[in-house]
Amino acid sequence: MFIILTDKVSQRLKYALEEIFVHRLKKPYILTEDKTTFGSHANHIKIQYTSVFLEELGGFWIENKGFLEQEYIDYNFKPELVRYQIVKNQILLNHVGFISRKFPDNPILKTLFIEKYPAYFPNKGMLTFDIFSMFFWNLSRYEEYQNYIPDKHGRFTYSQSLDSKNGIHSVPYLDLALIYFASLLNIDLCSLWHIENKPTVDIDIAYKYLGRGLFRTLFSAIKHPRFLQKRIKVFLTRDDPYAWNNTISKKLNPSKSIRIFWLCSSKTNYYNKQVSLDYKRFIIDIKNSSNNFTIGLHPSANTSKSKWTAEKIWLQKITNQDIHSSRQHFLLLTLPETYNDLISIGIKEDWSMGYSDDIGFRAATSYSFRWFDLKNNTSTPFVIHPFCFMDVTLKNYLQLKSDEALAEINKLYDWISLCGGMFCYILHNESLSSDSEWNSWQPIFEQIINRE
Ligand SMILES: [Zn+2]
Repeated sequence: MFIILTDKVSQRLKYALEEIFVHRLKKPYILTEDKTTFGSHANHIKIQYTSVFLEELGGFWIENKGFLEQEYIDYNFKPELVRYQIVKNQILLNHVGFISRKFPDNPILKTLFIEKYPAYFPNKGMLTFDIFSMFFWNLSRYEEYQNYIPDKHGRFTYSQSLDSKNGIHSVPYLDLALIYFASLLNIDLCSLWHIENKPTVDIDIAYKYLGRGLFRTLFSAIKHPRFLQKRIKVFLTRDDPYAWNNTISKKLNPSKSIRIFWLCSSKTNYYNKQVSLDYKRFIIDIKNSSNNFTIGLHPSANTSKSKWTAEKIWLQKITNQDIHSSRQHFLLLTLPETYNDLISIGIKEDWSMGYSDDIGFRAATSYSFRWFDLKNNTSTPFVIHPFCFMDVTLKNYLQLKSDEALAEINKLYDWISLCGGMFCYILHNESLSSDSEWNSWQPIFEQIINRE
C-alpha cells in the first residue's frame, strides 16, 4: 500500500494516480494533503509529491511544480524535455533477466543501462522528472487540444506532435518510465508483465467486385477495364478476393479478443465506399464474423452523429449483440468532440489512438487507458486502446517495402516485449487478401499475427 502526500488534491493528479497505481501497478494508494496522516502510516510506502521535500517525513520525492493543479487548458504550454539514464537496481536486473529468457535477441536489453531515454517535466526529485505530470500530459492528449495544423482530412499527425519536434520516434516512453519508477519503489516487475498480440481489422470495402448495384458495377468496370476478366470470373464463381472467407477467416485464429470493425455506411462517397447494406452476403458475413470475433463499429467518415446511431443500430440488429467498441474510419479523431459523440451513442471504447502518417505510440504507451475529458476537467470511464501501426501507413505513407516494414514492426515489438503491453495494430481485409497490391505482405502479416 502506498501513501502519497501532495500540496493540493486535484482531478488531474487523481486521474494520473489512478492510471499509474490502480490500472498499471495494481497497487492501492491513499492520497492526502495532511502531513499528520502521511506521517502516521508507518507501514505504507511513502511518496511526497510536494514543492519541497520534507525530510522529517521521508519517502520518495517527486517535485510538484503545480501543473496538475491547473483546471484550465493552457493553449501555449509545452513541457520541457529531459533525457535520463536508467540506473541499475536489483528489480530492474531481475526484470532484464526475465525478459531475456523470453526474448534473448531483444536489442534494447543490451543498451538499457547505457542509452538515454526521453521524458517530460524535468525536476529536482529522485526520478529527475515528474512522472505524474508526464502521464497526465500524454494520456489526456493535452497537445491535441492546442493549436496544430491538421492534415488534409483534419487529423492530428505525428509530424505535429511535440515528440516529433523532439526527435522521439516509436518509443513507449511512458511505459519505460513506469518500469523505472516501479523498480525504484521496489515493486516486482515480472509479476506485472504481460504482452498481448492484438490484431484488429477494419472492413471498409467488404468485396472487391461484388455487392454493388448495377450502376456502381458498370462505372467501376469502365473505370478499371484491366480487371474486366477477373470481374466476370468473380461474378460467375462468387469467389471475391476481399471476402470474409478469403481473408480474415483464413488468416486469423478465431478469438473474441480480436476486433473486427465493419463500416456500415448507407451512402457511397469519397470516404465511405462500403457495399450495399442490403446485399445478403454482406449481412451473412457480418453475422458469421460475430460468432468468433468481437464486432466493433467503424463509423462512416465526415457524416453525423445521427448517421452513426443508425449504423450502430443496424450492426446490432445484424449481430444480435450490443456494440461497445468503435474505431474511427480514416482515423478521423478530434478531441473532445469525437469521444463525446461516441459516448453519446453508447460506445464505451475507442481503438483509434495511433497515427495515420507514422508508426509508434501516439500517447507514448501501448497500454489501454481511460479518457480524461480535458475541456470539462474530469475523468471518464471511456477506454482508449492504442495501436502502434497500421498496414496502410507502412506501405503508402512511409512507402516501405514489406521486409523494411517488418524491421520497423520488430522494433515496436521489442519495446512492448520489454515494457509489457498491447501489441495492437490495424489491418484491412484488403491487405489480408493475396489477390491485391498487398500480395508480398502476406508472409509478414502471417508472421506478426501468429507471434506469441
Ligand atoms: Zn476505415
